[in-house]
Amino acid sequence: MPKQFAVIGLGRFGSSVARTLTELGHEVLAIDSDEDRIQEALPYVTHAVQADATDEEALKALGIRNFDVVVVAIGADIQASILATLILKELGVPHIVVKAQNHRHGQVLYKIGADEVVFPERDMGVRVARHLVSPNILDYIELADDYSIAEVVASDNMDGKTLRELDIRAKFGCNVLAIKSGTRINIAPRADDVIRSGDILVVVGRNDDLRRLQDKA
Ligand code: ATP
Ligand code: ATP
Ligand code: CA
Repeated sequence: MPKQFAVIGLGRFGSSVARTLTELGHEVLAIDSDEDRIQEALPYVTHAVQADATDEEALKALGIRNFDVVVVAIGADIQASILATLILKELGVPHIVVKAQNHRHGQVLYKIGADEVVFPERDMGVRVARHLVSPNILDYIELADDYSIAEVVASDNMDGKTLRELDIRAKFGCNVLAIKSGTRINIAPRADDVIRSGDILVVVGRNDDLRRLQDKA
């Protein structure tokens, strides 16, 4: 069953969240105190209403407690972000996700009961920096402190070679989970499968082993 989402604050971040949730087939109620932002959001969300998220009665009137997830994407006004989160928590919203401006803001949000706190600018900065240092790592998921799944682009060094010839498990201690070639994806690669330049290897391993592999990729 699709979940019911509400997004409060339609800046660049909040509007992107609201739009994507809608595109993924979910019902989204978009809330902003600025009427212009509401007009902009109307074409791409299910409902958009003007309301002040620091006004408990206004949130109650919208039936906010019936939403599965509420995203608070109020940016600059840290006080409003904290107050809105507190009210949502008290009204019993099951899952509250809040965009934090900085580390301290994030700590306060967790203390008052936010379920998830996101730092979009900080996290994007980390991604961009990593990509600058390792341009052939397209994307990664951190599994634990020292372990990740990374998408590594194969260069000419790997072209025409099999996993066995590259001996990735033995030499790099990493496992290739999948090989993407254009629109095709091989989700159970075998030792004799051949890598082509431009293929994307989805690899799981220790971060330092993944770095060694991408240097050779
Ligand atoms: P982004 O970086 O995502 O563009 P931002 O961090 O610059 O956003 P702001 O533009 O300050 O964030 O705020 C995002 C939105 O939150 C604005 O559209 C603003 O009108 C709305 N907003 C601010 N305070 C409230 C409030 N109390 N209730 C509802 N919406 C609010
Ligand atoms: P292993 O003991 O490493 O599993 P194996 O004798 O079972 O090796 P194969 O599974 O046939 O042999 O694979 C031969 C070699 O090819 C492996 O040692 C490994 O280096 C490499 N290899 C095969 N499949 C993968 C994979 N999915 N990811 C990384 N390396 C692989
Ligand atoms: Ca094996």
